[in-house]
Amino acid sequence: MEELIIIAAVVVAVGGGTSAAVLLRQRGRTRPAAPEARPRPAEPGAGASGTGTGLAGPETGGAAAGTEVAGQDLAVEAVAPPAIEHPPPSAGRLVRLRSRLARSQSALGSALFGLLSRDRLDDQTWEEIEDTLITADMGVTPARELVSDLRTEVKVTGTDDPQETRSLLKKLLLAQVGPDMDRSLHTGRHDDRPALVLVVGVNGTGKTTSVGKLARVLVGDGQTVLLGAADTFRAAAADQLQTWGQRVGAETVRSDRDGADPASVAFEAVRTGIERGVDTVIVDTAGRLHTKAGLMDELGKIKRVISRYGDVDEVLLVLDATTGQNGLRQARVFAEVVDVTGIILTKLDGTAKGGIVIAVQRELGVPVKLVGLGEGPDDLAPFEPEAFIDAIIGG
Ligand code: GDP
Repeated sequence: MEELIIIAAVVVAVGGGTSAAVLLRQRGRTRPAAPEARPRPAEPGAGASGTGTGLAGPETGGAAAGTEVAGQDLAVEAVAPPAIEHPPPSAGRLVRLRSRLARSQSALGSALFGLLSRDRLDDQTWEEIEDTLITADMGVTPARELVSDLRTEVKVTGTDDPQETRSLLKKLLLAQVGPDMDRSLHTGRHDDRPALVLVVGVNGTGKTTSVGKLARVLVGDGQTVLLGAADTFRAAAADQLQTWGQRVGAETVRSDRDGADPASVAFEAVRTGIERGVDTVIVDTAGRLHTKAGLMDELGKIKRVISRYGDVDEVLLVLDATTGQNGLRQARVFAEVVDVTGIILTKLDGTAKGGIVIAVQRELGVPVKLVGLGEGPDDLAPFEPEAFIDAIIGG
């Protein structure tokens, strides 16, 4: 298939004017961008190639970008996917991937069971149980509360059976994780427009990878997705994202140069997503924790610009589970800057510190919605409290 890449340069007049010029240029064999060659993205399960998807760049609407993106020459590439994979649906993934939590299970589950199996649960043992929970990054206050509650339950029930005590512990841990929190992802079309999802987090946490994996989750669950590469500061981020998108037939809207205004790219992504009629637009952002003011400026502007099309439906914060206290500090800063609606906790497969789920939810008051359990494309799972506690405690 011939390669067609279209660059649409949207030139917005300075000073809030309405004149906008859209320049389309095709690389490869040149032919006019026919409007009929602009179908909705391939339906899931509709076979390979996604013919024509992304053939044409944005037609109009540059003027709507308004003053915040005014005066910038923005080039956006919409690239057609070469072949489409069909990821599996996301339901039950955590159960299937439970062995990835083995490090947490041996450090937390086995250690706790060892302690609960002692002949006598004396003060010293209860302290060790508390320390074990704290070492798993659960947080000091939740660990104390849990041990105090468990001591009471053991006393009330009069049990000296370690299995039974472990069941009580699991019940209390589950309560701390919050089985009733709303963990649904608001990613469906509504009000005749795509859901708008912003993904934020510090570089290196697995943000771009998680955006790619999330696209697969959604496509696997039957949705159509468009990606916005607004992490314009990391040279490889847009390429990385585009590769993820191409694999599942999701277009990527990106700038053709590094350092472009992230808000312009985000705006263009949403506009193109609306034009294409996709279910969800996911925007990857730059994660430079330079200064809080700088971050606020950057993310605030992206959010404001996107919001002209409607409220942002999800702001997902990506956190690396292996970073402990440092990760929690990052979470705090982001939560002050944007209204985080959910957490994607990555690299849980590489840590023994599964307790971070409890600590971070408590810190931010928002649920962990997805967990990263490996580097494979389908190693992102919807978070299920029961399956998680089962996996890390065992029994
Ligand atoms: P970004 O800078 O935050 O966008 O980070 P990237 O998405 O480029 O990811 C950084 C590294 O983390 C890559 O090597 C990813 O493969 C890896 N990574 C991301 N998520 C996970 C995960 O859940 N588990 C593991 N083991 N590695 C992950």
